[in-house]
Amino acid sequence: MDFSFNEEQKMLQSQVQEIALMDVSPRASDIDSYTLFPWEGLKALSEADLMGMMVPPAYGGAGSDIVSFIIATQELARYCANTALVFVTQHFCEAGLLAGGQEEMKKKWLPMLASGEKIAAFAATEADCGSNVLAAQSTAQDQGNSYTVNGTKVYITAADDAELYLVVVRSNPAQGPQSLSILAIEKETLGLSFGRKYIRMGLNGSSNGEVILNNCQVPKINLVGPEGGYMAMFGAMSGVGLLGASAISVGLAQTALAESISYGKQRIVAGQPLGNYQAVQFMVSEMSALVDAGRAALYQAGAAHLSAPPGPPLHAMKAKLFTTDMAIKVTDLALQMHGGAGYTKELVIERLHRDARGLTLHFGVTEPLKELVGKALMGLMPG
Ligand SMILES: Cc1cc2nc3c(=O)[nH]c(=O)nc-3n(C[C@H](O)[C@H](O)[C@H](O)COP(=O)(O)OP(=O)(O)OC[C@H]3O[C@@H](n4cnc5c(N)ncnc54)[C@H](O)[C@@H]3O)c2cc1C
Repeated sequence: MDFSFNEEQKMLQSQVQEIALMDVSPRASDIDSYTLFPWEGLKALSEADLMGMMVPPAYGGAGSDIVSFIIATQELARYCANTALVFVTQHFCEAGLLAGGQEEMKKKWLPMLASGEKIAAFAATEADCGSNVLAAQSTAQDQGNSYTVNGTKVYITAADDAELYLVVVRSNPAQGPQSLSILAIEKETLGLSFGRKYIRMGLNGSSNGEVILNNCQVPKINLVGPEGGYMAMFGAMSGVGLLGASAISVGLAQTALAESISYGKQRIVAGQPLGNYQAVQFMVSEMSALVDAGRAALYQAGAAHLSAPPGPPLHAMKAKLFTTDMAIKVTDLALQMHGGAGYTKELVIERLHRDARGLTLHFGVTEPLKELVGKALMGLMPG
């Protein structure tokens, strides 16, 4: 398979790289250290019409495909995983609205999201159900033309910086997946508030926190997909999340490799460059092979996604599984190779490693994802 970029894709890559170098990279370290939301980078992406890459022009987007989105995400993640994570979350929510939003909501919200004027968040996780969203207990009680929504969502990316929340709720008392729905809830809704903010190991600039819903009145027109249609909606959105997380992982790993090669040439130990040691050569060759394999897995899955039938995107799941582990391994090797310096905050390596570590825990936690892929391969998925 040929994964070389065409002219348009090369232009996009240069465009995003320019933005990343001008408006993303210079702030990446402060964003991480001081838990700042990456507004400047997002503004630059907005000005370049890149916040709604897969939204059709009729709703104010660029109308590009998933491969273009992967290229942009990977490029951003080379410089700042926080910016890339918010970027992916925005596109994930846009995919949800596109797939299941009612026309009035699409017309109202998609242009604002695609222009970057407003940020969106996806709120599924709860304290008692993380990796298994099917056990979500937030309720949406039917009031005729609206729902009364109650619940608390945890670990939400862009929590209080977003203006629109795609929230997973239980819209009838039955416990099966058929009773779960997605509601788009606006920030101004009475009863919506924010709880604690999390200080985490990495990805601290993505404004991760609790979203609390206390007797929020949400019109039925805000349903994303049919009532009880969470599974179908998630199926339509998940490729974007999985491939987005995979692209962030590849971007992070790429930087770790480039930094390591450069360090191996320039760092002199006992009179000779570090790169002269065979053990160091082994490390960079392993990193390089892993990055190549990760990139191939990512773009193969991206290409497959362009023509994938509806249903669980197995190609994207497998790419996500492989590349998130790959990024942890590569950034860990990079840290080892940088010695004591790599463990300090004076170099980017430790941040790359901390950021990479978060990606096996979101957009499909590794173990349940493996179980899902394994079941599908064994023909054990319910039809
Ligand atoms: C960087 C980041 C960003 C996030 N952003 C969002 C967001 O925007 N919106 C949102 O809703 N959530 C978000 N989350 C939350 C994330 O989706 C959850 O952390 C994740 O679903 C896991 O839930 P949990 O933390 O409750 O883990 P738990 O459910 O407590 O699971 C803990 C561990 O148990 C194991 N495990 C769980 N289930 C199984 C199983 N079936 N089989 C085998 N092993 C299993 C896994 O190793 C798992 O890591 C984010 C998390 C991170 C790290």
